[in-house]
Amino acid sequence: TKTYTRDYWEDALSAIKLEGRHFIDGEYRTAASAQTFTHIRPMDGQPGAELARGGAEDIDLAVASARDAFEAGIWRNKEPLEKKKVMLRWAELIRVHAEELAMLETLDVGKPVLASLNVDVRLCADGIQFYAEMIDKMYDEIAPTGPNARALVRKVPLGVIGVITPWNYPMIIDAWKLGPAIAAGNSVVLKPAEQSSLSAIRLAALAVEAGLSAGVLNVVVGYGEEAGKPLALHMDVDMIAFTGSTEVGKLIMGYAAQSNVKRVALELGGKSPLVVFEDADLDAAASAAAWGCFYNSGETCHASTRLLVQRSVQDKLIEKIEAVTKSDIALAHPFEPSAQISALIEEAHMHKVLGLIAAGEKEGGRRAFGAQQVLAETGGYYISPGVFVDMTNDMSLARQEIFGPVLAVIPFETEEEALKLANDTIYGLAGAVFTRDMDRAHRFSEALHAGTVWINTYDMSNFATPFGGFKQSGFGRDRSVHAIDKYCDYKTIWQQFG
Ligand code: NAD
Repeated sequence: TKTYTRDYWEDALSAIKLEGRHFIDGEYRTAASAQTFTHIRPMDGQPGAELARGGAEDIDLAVASARDAFEAGIWRNKEPLEKKKVMLRWAELIRVHAEELAMLETLDVGKPVLASLNVDVRLCADGIQFYAEMIDKMYDEIAPTGPNARALVRKVPLGVIGVITPWNYPMIIDAWKLGPAIAAGNSVVLKPAEQSSLSAIRLAALAVEAGLSAGVLNVVVGYGEEAGKPLALHMDVDMIAFTGSTEVGKLIMGYAAQSNVKRVALELGGKSPLVVFEDADLDAAASAAAWGCFYNSGETCHASTRLLVQRSVQDKLIEKIEAVTKSDIALAHPFEPSAQISALIEEAHMHKVLGLIAAGEKEGGRRAFGAQQVLAETGGYYISPGVFVDMTNDMSLARQEIFGPVLAVIPFETEEEALKLANDTIYGLAGAVFTRDMDRAHRFSEALHAGTVWINTYDMSNFATPFGGFKQSGFGRDRSVHAIDKYCDYKTIWQQFG
C-alpha cells in the first residue's frame, strides 16, 4: 500500500491541470459571457482554479442539450443491461481516478485529502454502482381490471432534472442525485456550489468516457443567483433536486411555483440532537458526540450539534469528549496524513462561525475548550473543535445551524424534558439516543421528529437506507431504492380488448 505523504500530494497538485469550464453536450465550454471567477483555496487562502461564470444563457444551452438527449431517447431507451454496464464503467472510472478526484475535492473544500479519498470518492463510486445495479431489476405493474382490458402501470422518467448541490460533500451528494436520476432514464443539468465545481466537471467527463450519451449529464458552473436561479425558473426543467440551506430551499419552491410547477425535492439544514441518558455507555457516547459534531469540521447537515445530557453525568461526559477530541481528531493542513479535520470552506464562513461563537459567550454559554481560530499563519481558514456548556436551547449556538466544529451542551433532568428539548427545533434531519434501556431507546426514537434516528451510535448508514428530513429539513429522500421514485412518475396505459 502507498504512503500518502504531504509531498506526494504537493507533487500531484503541481502536475494537475484544473478544468473549470462548463461541461455541456459532451464538451467543455467557456461561459457565454466569456466571464470567469477565481476559486480561493480554503487550505491556504491562495487563488485556485479559474471557473466559468455561468448565467441564464449557459443554462438555456445545457437544458436544450439535456432535452434533446431525452427526446432522442438514446440513453432512456437503451437496453437496461447496456445502461447498467455504462453506469458500472462510470463507477469504475471514478475508482481509477480516485486520487485525482480526491485532490480536486480537497482543493475546493479544504477537507483532509485522505478523507476525500477514503470517504467521499469511495462513497461516490459506490453510490453510482448502487443505482447502476438497479437498472435491470425494476419492474412495471399490471393493474387489476376486468378480463376485457389490460392496464399497464409504467414508471417513466420525468425528463430534464436540474440538480443544485452544496459544497460540503460535493461528490457524495452528486452520486445521491445523479445515480437515481440517470438510472431512471432522465437527463440532468447539474449546478454545483460555486465553491466546489471541480469534481462535478470531472465526474461528467468521466461519465461520457464511460459511454453515457452526450447531453445526458451537463454541468453549468457559477453562482446561485446567476446560474442556479435560472435553472430553477426554467420552463423546460421538470424537476429540481436541491441540497443546501433551508433559506435557499424556500426560494427554490418559489421559483418552481413562479415558473412551470416543476417538482422539487429538498434536502436542507439541521440542528440534530444527540441525547445521552445517565445509564449510557459514556465512552461510546463521548466518541459519537465528538465525531458526530466535528467530522468534516462540523460542515455536515446532520452534524450532532446539540448534545442533550442528563445532568448527573454532564461533567464526566464533557471530560471524555475533550479527551477523545484531543487524542483522536487532529486538525491539520489537508495534505498532512495525520489530519482528521481541516479547513472551513471560506473566509466569510469562518468569520460567521467565529461570530456565532462570540454570541455564545455573550449569551452566557461557557467555553469548555477549543472553538478558536488556529493555523492563521497558513492563510487558510481553520477553527479548532470546541465545546460550549451551560447552554439553554434558546441560545444562538443551540438554535442556528453553525456549520463549524462547535458543540452546544444542554443539560436535562427527565426523559420527558429531553424529548421536548430534542424536538424544539425547526429542523428534523437526524438525532441519536444513548441509553442501555432498550424500551426507552425505542420509545424515544419513535417520538423524535427526525428522518434518521441512531441508537447508541451516530452517523452510521449505507446505501440501503433513505436519508433526508422532516419539518424544515426538507422532503424527499436520497439513497436507497426509494430514491429513484422521485425522478419518475406513473403512467397508465389502458388497452381495451375487442
Ligand atoms: P446554499 O443554500 O447557500 O447553497 C446551495 C446551492 O444553492 C449552491 O449550489 C448555491 O450556488 C445554490 N444557490 C444559492 N442561492 C440560490 C438561488 N437564489 N437560486 C438557486 N440556487 C441558489 O448552501 P451551502 O452553503 O452551499 O451548503 C450548506 C447548507 O447545505 C447547509 O444548510 C446544510 O445543512 C445544507 N446541506 C444539507 C444536506 C442534506 O442532505 N440535508 C446535505 C448537505 C448540506
